[in-house]
Amino acid sequence: MSDLTRSITISGGGLAGLSLAIALRRRDLPVRIFESGSYPRHRVCGEFISGVADETLENLGIAHAFSECRRHRSFSWWQQGREFHQGQLDQPALGISRHHLDYQLATMAQQIGCALQTGHRSKPAPFDGHIWAAGRRPCDGPWIGLKAHVKGIKKASDLEMHLGANGYLGLAEVEDGWVNACGLFRIDRSIRAKGPDLLSAYLEAGGNTRLATDIRNAIWRDDSFTAVAGFSLGRQPEIPGLLCLGDAESIIPPFTGNGMSMAFQAAEAAISPLVQWHDGKIPWATTVSEIKAALRSQFSLRLQSARLLHPFLLKKSGRTLLRALAGCRALPVRPILSLIR
Ligand SMILES: Cc1cc2nc3c(=O)[nH]c(=O)nc-3n(C[C@H](O)[C@H](O)[C@H](O)COP(=O)(O)OP(=O)(O)OC[C@H]3O[C@@H](n4cnc5c(N)ncnc54)[C@H](O)[C@@H]3O)c2cc1C
Repeated sequence: MSDLTRSITISGGGLAGLSLAIALRRRDLPVRIFESGSYPRHRVCGEFISGVADETLENLGIAHAFSECRRHRSFSWWQQGREFHQGQLDQPALGISRHHLDYQLATMAQQIGCALQTGHRSKPAPFDGHIWAAGRRPCDGPWIGLKAHVKGIKKASDLEMHLGANGYLGLAEVEDGWVNACGLFRIDRSIRAKGPDLLSAYLEAGGNTRLATDIRNAIWRDDSFTAVAGFSLGRQPEIPGLLCLGDAESIIPPFTGNGMSMAFQAAEAAISPLVQWHDGKIPWATTVSEIKAALRSQFSLRLQSARLLHPFLLKKSGRTLLRALAGCRALPVRPILSLIR
């Protein structure tokens, strides 16, 4: 029997919040979710899911949401229109738009009895049973993320990663032949472009002129352009007593293609302590500290590794070294991938 006095409140219906809600409902816990936006909608995200085990998706009860997604194996690295490395992933990455995935998960959550309220902006207040999964925290961080779905771009591999002087952009297919073009760039206040023109403007400013032209001339999916600016990467500042999951807890640099996987893994790590709390076996303070310890032990190495590697992509000397290593086939791709997974 479910104890209605110990119910779960999740603020944020993105991947961490929805997948946790589904997992807990499947274990008969009462769950309500508050989401500030609505579904379906496009989000800034490369939509390239790498490093999550099938077992995690099954444990969360969401594996079937991925049955029809793209499976990506090949990848290549580019600079100024020139490919300098190509390779194959040992485990395929999944390609599915957030427009589709978040909507599917929100529908699934409601079908199994989660009370989901959209258009509701919660406050980060610590109280028993409250989980903060509200994603990136607005701050004066140096980054801008831009994304659109396009058609008509020729690709040489499933994932193309294009490095520039001011950031990078990935190209990977999602459903219906659309290609996700998503980049992370350092905010440049001298760029005057607005709206969708920002994407090609940032690519041009970073030296990827040909790609900028290809993207400008591509067919754009209606309403798919989205932008988010001013956030920081890495561990997010703690809010005393508040249990944070997903990007609200830590943000891995997007080049890893691992942020969505981390959202699922964080949700999975939270299941057992939350079930024990609901069953009255542990107090809320213990639940919070157990989950925080699990997240630290699971994510610390990959967050630190990604933090050390990220500057290589963003500094000229780093990119030169990457190209040189790739040129003599000495780029340690497998060890790097295992550190950031
Ligand atoms: C440029 C860029 C590219 C990326 N590319 C990739 C990639 O290719 N692969 C990958 O795995 N990851 C990628 N990521 C990271 C990935 O998008 C995130 O790690 C992932 O979305 C985290 O999920 P989440 O549930 O924690 O947060 P989100 O998915 O952001 O969900 C948070 C939810 O909370 C809601 N919300 C916010 N505030 C409130 C509030 N006050 N009250 C209620 N609801 C609220 C939001 O509307 C949102 O629905 C990328 C990120 C960026 C910036």
